[in-house]
Amino acid sequence: MVLSLIESARNVERRSVEDILFKARECRGLNLEEVACLLNIEDEEQLNLLYETAKYVKNRVYGKRVVLFAPLYTSNECTNNCLYCGFRRDNKELHRKTLTKEEIINEAKEIEGQGHKRILLICGEDPQKTNVKHITSSMELIYKNTNIKRINVETAPMKVEEYRQLKEAGIGTYVIFQETYNREVYKKMHPVGLKSDYDYRITAIDRAFEAGIDDVGVGALLGLYDYKYEVLNLLTHCMSFEKKYGVGPHTISVPRLRPALGWGLKEIPYPVCDSDFKKIISIYRLAVPYTGIILSTRESPELRDELLSLGVSQISAGSKTNPGGYKENDQKADQFEVSDHRSLSKVLATICDKGYIPSFCTACYRRCRTGEAFMEYAKEGEIHEFCQPNAILTFKENLLDYGDQSLNKLGSELIEKALEEIQDDKMKELVKEKLIEIEKGKRDIYF
Ligand code: SF4
Repeated sequence: MVLSLIESARNVERRSVEDILFKARECRGLNLEEVACLLNIEDEEQLNLLYETAKYVKNRVYGKRVVLFAPLYTSNECTNNCLYCGFRRDNKELHRKTLTKEEIINEAKEIEGQGHKRILLICGEDPQKTNVKHITSSMELIYKNTNIKRINVETAPMKVEEYRQLKEAGIGTYVIFQETYNREVYKKMHPVGLKSDYDYRITAIDRAFEAGIDDVGVGALLGLYDYKYEVLNLLTHCMSFEKKYGVGPHTISVPRLRPALGWGLKEIPYPVCDSDFKKIISIYRLAVPYTGIILSTRESPELRDELLSLGVSQISAGSKTNPGGYKENDQKADQFEVSDHRSLSKVLATICDKGYIPSFCTACYRRCRTGEAFMEYAKEGEIHEFCQPNAILTFKENLLDYGDQSLNKLGSELIEKALEEIQDDKMKELVKEKLIEIEKGKRDIYF
């Protein structure tokens, strides 16, 4: 079905593309036929129109906020052999490590010490070492010993009962990438191990919902197969679970395949150039305007900064992709090569320079604005109402606790501007009062 959609959209009239982009400005999403038409855009003028529309939608739904997080790798031990991954079983060059309890706490404290409040917990798949018990006890240790307020978790597919345990441990978003939606490519890339079961992976989100997790993130690893096929299939997947459970994806990640030490490939099978990458992000923004788009440090600083305007709403910063990396960086233990090596404070300064406001907010999850409740209010474009004030408050706390003099100056000017943009006078006054409370030392204030 997806192939015929791509085929029939190939010679679509210029006028139709313009009509689709006009419709996209309503921020109500696009259907698959419309997405297929946009994926076929090659003409520069139309590409620019696509980018302009994505900027408009991003600004209308998300405003100027950019949410920040850091990954925490608890283990690089893995029984799978995914050809594209540095953690794969046959990579004998990799320094293997599963963090001890103490090391997990230390890593989380290092991340917290940068100013983060949100972690993405990740590990390889090893039924003995990285099972659900390892994950839930890691979560418990972090919540108990640090001020990290939200732990999102990216794991291998699990049973319903195991997802229930993640839910009880206080999971934020459950993240799982299908990697590729092409069954043949999937088989080739995942030759052995538990991950070689395509169907068990694609149904993981159903089991997570069954266990009561209503906040999920998806993604395709761009570069394994034709990106048009992947984007359309990923959106089909999202539509299917949205139809069943009334909740679409909270986030879509856009990892672009990068070489890794000891990977099993000679080259990237379907490289995605920067221009196509920008197109993909813009199209996701229009197709699912209420879904956050996550960009990792796989991409260069310049490109990451540019993509903020096109639709990216969450970025990792100051990241290490090996277990123990925040304390001691061992590059022979990395999952992939990082391109953006800037510290969190450097990234914050650039975000401010570009007029965006960094957010360390974790309020929705703590106020139970997740799943259907979140979607309802996100789809109405009401994210601004709480999110802009929460971004201002959490950034203020970050500046006071972690900012140096120059970041403080830059951030304070930005906060002044962002305050003026709050339309509701009552809310504006309330935020001003809360800012004074923060200056006096109060913390963890949010709406
Ligand atoms: S992608 Fe995940 S499952 Fe595959 S080898 Fe890497 S860590 Fe293991």
